[in-house]
Amino acid sequence: METENKDIEHTLVIIKPDGISRSLTGNILAMLSHPESIIVGAKVVKVTREIAIAHYAHLKEKPFFDELIDYITGNWHANRVICLVYEGNDVIQRVRNIAGATNPEEALPNTIRGKYGRIHSKTGVFENTIHCSENKSEAEREIKLWFRPEEIVHNIYPVESKTDTLEHLYWK
Ligand code: UDP
Ligand code: MG
Repeated sequence: METENKDIEHTLVIIKPDGISRSLTGNILAMLSHPESIIVGAKVVKVTREIAIAHYAHLKEKPFFDELIDYITGNWHANRVICLVYEGNDVIQRVRNIAGATNPEEALPNTIRGKYGRIHSKTGVFENTIHCSENKSEAEREIKLWFRPEEIVHNIYPVESKTDTLEHLYWK
């Protein structure tokens, strides 16, 4: 079943490696908590260079791109992130508001980035503890990059069934 209400949005949240290594997961989840922001997918991911580069493909020409990839793949902190899909009315902007401005020095002190973010002194990269999608089309692209349909509690985008020959691991 796809989401029927067209006003319902989805957004991808990533608790970045600095958020993990500084044990901020609980605080971040508490700040994001809202009766109309429902978690429909969640997992811990070891970030590969491939997925990091695909995620930030639109920033490829930026001078900080290589350092950003180092940061998100965990070269400076934990080598994992927590990915969450939130569902709800207006959830994209609500989460962006709670996250705060991209630059932690500009983020209001009561936002996640304002409270917990910092600028990495050696590279100038904004270690801002959390990623959140900017708009509907970016959210769809990002959610489809990080999650398979089965990992989300219902089909938030159209799906098709295919048989593949990939080997999978099973518990012995
Ligand atoms: N970033 C940075 N320096 C900049 C702009 C961005 O280090 O001048 C990093 C920061 O971690 C940010 C990420 O790159 O969260 C993605 O940048 P974007 O402009 O998409 O900001 P966001 O959507 O995360 O607020
Ligand atoms: Mg962005």
